[in-house]
Amino acid sequence: MPAERLQKLLAQSGIASRRRAEELVAAGRVTVNGTPATLGQRADPSVDRVAVDGRPILAGVPLIHLAVHKPRGLLSSTHDERGRRSVLSLVAPEMTTNGARLWPAGRLDADSEGLMLLTNDGPWANHVLHPRYGLEREYATLVHPAPSAAALRQLRTGVELDDGPARILGVRASPPPEEVGREPDEVGTWLRVRIGEGRKREVRRLFAAIGHDVRRLVRIRLGPLALDGLAVGEWRALSGAEVAALSGADAAPEGAPAKRRSGLRLAVAIDGPSGAGKSTVGHALAVRLRANFVDTGLMYRALTLAALEQGLDPDDGPALGRLARRSRIHVRRPRKDQVDRFETVLLGQRDVTHLVRTPRIDRLVSAVSRHAEVRDAMVAVQRATARRGDTVMVGRDIGTVVLPEATPKVYLTASTIVRAQRRAAEMGRPDRATEYLEEIERRDAADSRRAVAPLRRAPGALVLDTGELSVEESVDRIVASLTRAPAQPASARRRRTPA
Ligand code: C5P
Repeated sequence: MPAERLQKLLAQSGIASRRRAEELVAAGRVTVNGTPATLGQRADPSVDRVAVDGRPILAGVPLIHLAVHKPRGLLSSTHDERGRRSVLSLVAPEMTTNGARLWPAGRLDADSEGLMLLTNDGPWANHVLHPRYGLEREYATLVHPAPSAAALRQLRTGVELDDGPARILGVRASPPPEEVGREPDEVGTWLRVRIGEGRKREVRRLFAAIGHDVRRLVRIRLGPLALDGLAVGEWRALSGAEVAALSGADAAPEGAPAKRRSGLRLAVAIDGPSGAGKSTVGHALAVRLRANFVDTGLMYRALTLAALEQGLDPDDGPALGRLARRSRIHVRRPRKDQVDRFETVLLGQRDVTHLVRTPRIDRLVSAVSRHAEVRDAMVAVQRATARRGDTVMVGRDIGTVVLPEATPKVYLTASTIVRAQRRAAEMGRPDRATEYLEEIERRDAADSRRAVAPLRRAPGALVLDTGELSVEESVDRIVASLTRAPAQPASARRRRTPA
């Protein structure tokens, strides 16, 4: 197969439009044979291993991920001896041309309805559906007769089914969502039921165990994916972010403890100099671990933007500290359509993500972030963010100051020239690596020589050279060290360490 431009390959694989594909490459999320790709690079899918966020794309065959709203009566198997229609018959034939053979990922009984996934991506489907990852499912359920509060409590506590104990995670009375048509003669009570597994006819059997009949069973949500306007019999392609969220953000990690004991939180600290691959590796790790990803560099960048806009002097620590305390800076997950971003940074209500990775901010950010007043304010926000849930946090002082109890602590590095080339490629100027080299050396010096919270390798940190390791290899090594290290009690995370 001839080598094709990456954006064409990614577009053919159904992962992103060409323009989006370029953005993914520029954001460092695409690798070829484990090395971050550059804009304009070509690859031959029959010999090269092309991956997005560490997930390989199928050689030559487009990867397809669809959501479909299955009506009652259709089968979720691909074919049936009695010739009954399969849910696949709903999907336009062009989705299966190009050699893509689709099959339903997971099943719904013929008499059940609602959200299903169709795909040709086996590893993805396994990840999404494997019971050990505990993807939560929500059903709109018409139950007769109306169950008592005591009966529902019993379902929450657990009942014994013929294949072992089972329980529901939650239940509440609620009419079905708009996408679910009601019937004029229906009898029963509509409930919303959440379960954490997907055993055969589990919801029906659970209600049967307490003497109730499920008259309709409509799956309205699978993990982060809801029916969301999809009418009966309709289908749509999932966005890249939805595909990633289903397999990553809502699935427990391969190789990591399947369930962490309650009260234990996960905090991974990743530090290192500019261009060491902290965002790329940190984000891929967070996807793998179903953790929040927090890039603290973005926070210092947003503060620097605010300082510039207000005309503050980068030497005026007290004024910058006041600004840091006053400003509402937070990083959050990108919206579903923002597939080019690992994170979005908000300054107040304003999305400033695209304004903070500019040469002007590069020049000033180290000067702004060197002040103790600034760091105190930022560290408080960062610790509060990490307390909200499992977190992968990247920056300069995460393992040493912000989350000294994090396990594991990781220090990423690479030679200055490799880092400069990456940065230049990221900015769409691969020809300007020399300029970025100077910039990086200047910032390395400022960040590691400052008096407060200088860039240091935390004691015991796992050191990885990303110039020698692919993104996937780096993530694998971190996950391996994680499975050896115990998680931290949530209480330990509240101890304050002076900045
Ligand atoms: O990681 P990034 O290059 O976006 O960080 C921008 C700058 O923010 C760094 O050069 C450093 O001066 C500052 N920073 C910091 N402490 C952190 C993260 C970033 O001082 N935890």
